[in-house]
Amino acid sequence: MSKALLKRLGAALETAEAEGTYKHFRYIKGAIGSHIDLEGKGDVTLLSSNDYLGFANHPEIVAAAHQALDTYGASTASVRFICGTQSVHRELEEALASFHGTEAALTYSSCWAANTGLFPAITGPGDVILSDALNHASLIDGIRATAKGVVRQVYAHGDLVDLEEKLKAAREAPSRMIVTDGVFSMEGDIAPLDRLCDLADQYDALVVLDDSHGLGVLGKTGRGTAEHFGVLDRIDIFTGTLGKALGAGTGGFVAGPRAVTETLIQQSRPHLFSNALPPCVAAAGVKSLDLLLAHPERVAGLQEKAAWFRGYLKDLGLQPLAGESAVVPVIVGETVRAIHLANAMLEQGVFVTGFGFPVVPEGEARLRFQVSAAHDIAQLEQAGAALKSLMGNS
Ligand SMILES: *Cc1c(COP(=O)(O)O)cnc(C)c1O
Repeated sequence: MSKALLKRLGAALETAEAEGTYKHFRYIKGAIGSHIDLEGKGDVTLLSSNDYLGFANHPEIVAAAHQALDTYGASTASVRFICGTQSVHRELEEALASFHGTEAALTYSSCWAANTGLFPAITGPGDVILSDALNHASLIDGIRATAKGVVRQVYAHGDLVDLEEKLKAAREAPSRMIVTDGVFSMEGDIAPLDRLCDLADQYDALVVLDDSHGLGVLGKTGRGTAEHFGVLDRIDIFTGTLGKALGAGTGGFVAGPRAVTETLIQQSRPHLFSNALPPCVAAAGVKSLDLLLAHPERVAGLQEKAAWFRGYLKDLGLQPLAGESAVVPVIVGETVRAIHLANAMLEQGVFVTGFGFPVVPEGEARLRFQVSAAHDIAQLEQAGAALKSLMGNS
C-alpha cells in the first residue's frame, strides 16, 4: 500500500484527534434500552439511541426473530430477484404497504440503500428533484446518483417560498418531485407537509417523504409526520427504516405505487446487487409493526415524555430547540464545548451525543437528546439536572 496515502490518512486522524472531533467507539456490553452497561463506565442512562418505542430489545420481537431463524435459517444467501425472497419478505412488505396505505412496499437492507436506490431508478432526463437543504445524507447521495440530465435543486430548509419559485421555474419539466425528511434529525423539527402537499397539487409534483425519525413517533397511531398533518393519503412515496422506532435492527423500505416498487425491482441497483434482508430481521420487522399497531398508547406516552422533557429543560433555563418530535437538541455553542459537555454528562451517568462542526454550523454545536417511551421521568429529570449544573459551571 502507498506509504504516502497512509501518511496522509494518519495526519488527518491526528488533526481530528487534536481538534477533538475524532469519533471513538464506545462498547456496550448488553442490549440497548433506557439504560445500558457501557464498558468502562458501568450502568448509564441512554439518551442517544433511536430506540424511540423501546422495541430494540422487546421480548416479543426477539422471540419472532428467534422463530424465524428456526424456520428460515440465518441467511438468504442471495439478492432478492435470484433466490433471496422468502415468504416472510412478502409478509413484511404487505404489512408496510398496509401501514402506509400504499399499493405496495419493497424492502432494502437499510434505508440508506433504499434512498440511494430509489432516485436513480425512477428519474429520467429533464425530471426535476427539489430537495430540502437539511435532508439526510442518504437522500443527498441518492439524488446525486441520478443520471446526467436529471435536474437536482436544493430549496432552503422548510422554505415554501423558495420551493414554490423553484416549482414554478420547473413547470415545463417532464416531472417534478419534492423530497423531504419528515423529522430532521439534527434539529428535531418537522417538515410542513400539509403545505408541501398543497404546493405539490398546485404544481403537479410528487412528494417523497423519508420519515425515518417520524415513524412510530408522530401521529395518533405512530404513522409518522404525514399522520401528524393528516396527509397520509397525499404522500406519493414513503421511505423509512426498520432500525429506529421499529426494532428489526436494520432494513429499510420504499412504500408507494406499484409502478414504483416494480420499477425498483427491475432497476434499482442496491436491490439488484446486494443481499436481501435476513429472514430473522424481516420477521422482527413484521412483529414491530404488529406491536406498534396494537399499542398506540406507547406512541402517546412517548409524545408526552418528549413534550415534558422539552418543558422541563426550559424550566431549568436551558434552551432546547422547539419541536414535536422525540429529538431534543440543546444548543451549547462551540464544537469543543459540546464534546466537553457530552464527556462530562457521561461521568454523571448520562450517555448523550454532542454534535459539532461540520455536522452542524460552527457556533451551533449541540447535545442531542433522544427520548424513548422506555425512559421514566426520573431518568429524564436526572439528565436535565446534570446538564443544568454542568452548563452553569462552564
Ligand atoms: C437514519 C436515517 C436513514 C438511514 O437509515 P438506515 O436504515 O440506518 O440506513 C435514512 N434517512 C433518514 C432520514 C434517517 O434518519
